[in-house]
Amino acid sequence: MTKTTPGLGEVYLVGAGPGDPELLTIKAHRLMQLADVVLYDNLVSPEIVQMVNPDAERVYVGKKSNRHTLPQDEINTTLVKLAKAGKKVLRLKGGDPFIFGRGGEEVETLKEYRIPFQIVPGISAANGVSCYAGIPLTHRDFSHAVTFVTGHLKNGTSDLDWPALVRPSHTVVIYMGLEALPDICRQLVAHGLPETHPVAVVHQGTTAKQKTCVGTLGTIDQHVKEAGFTPPSLIIVGEVVLLHERLSWLNDASREAHD
Ligand code: SAH
Repeated sequence: MTKTTPGLGEVYLVGAGPGDPELLTIKAHRLMQLADVVLYDNLVSPEIVQMVNPDAERVYVGKKSNRHTLPQDEINTTLVKLAKAGKKVLRLKGGDPFIFGRGGEEVETLKEYRIPFQIVPGISAANGVSCYAGIPLTHRDFSHAVTFVTGHLKNGTSDLDWPALVRPSHTVVIYMGLEALPDICRQLVAHGLPETHPVAVVHQGTTAKQKTCVGTLGTIDQHVKEAGFTPPSLIIVGEVVLLHERLSWLNDASREAHD
């Protein structure tokens, strides 16, 4: 057990899940009620922010790709400052804090300054969004492995391990990949997948605004453009996408595109 300094607050690093408030964990909900102040980013749905202790101060720290409202360093030091002032600080993040959420960097700073903290996992977009879109990430007939990657490619160039992503019986889930979608599809085809390989893109999954677009490596970019998709959108590549038609269960808002 860490010894706590009297008067020192605590930081709760909490995953808020992909959008549907009912996907919060009970632990997340409990800590949300204890908070004196909440720092949340743009992926946390407004309904969830509303569920935080009504007396807690609310601080929006933004983060749309390339347009950070507060730079990460400042978020880290703000967490430390507030905890040192004796506050219970809720750091609320979309999905899971340790999956493309920079949770590791925040925890490192907290450790460095000996701030007590707790970490609560959340349902990551890959899990939540795939379920709500009726696309199992693995399936005995189609896929025996799944890989999560970021499509936010540095300087717009493709620095992903493409040969690893085109392995057979494999599902690839791409976070932050909408902008790079044409490049991603080109690279996957260049590394050996057929143009007919199935792809789905799901916009605002698990929320009332969920929309799904289904196509292939050759067609999905056009479909997504026609449907006007914007972030947050999750890309799922693999034969499991073929199950969507049979397994989809949510009456989503999509004008679905099928080949
Ligand atoms: N920590 C988060 C991911 C942050 S990266 C998690 O575990 O889910 C942000 C990316 O996640 C978005 O660009 C998008 O690709 C994906 N994402 C998050 N929520 C989503 C949602 N409700 N629907 C579709 N994609 C989502």
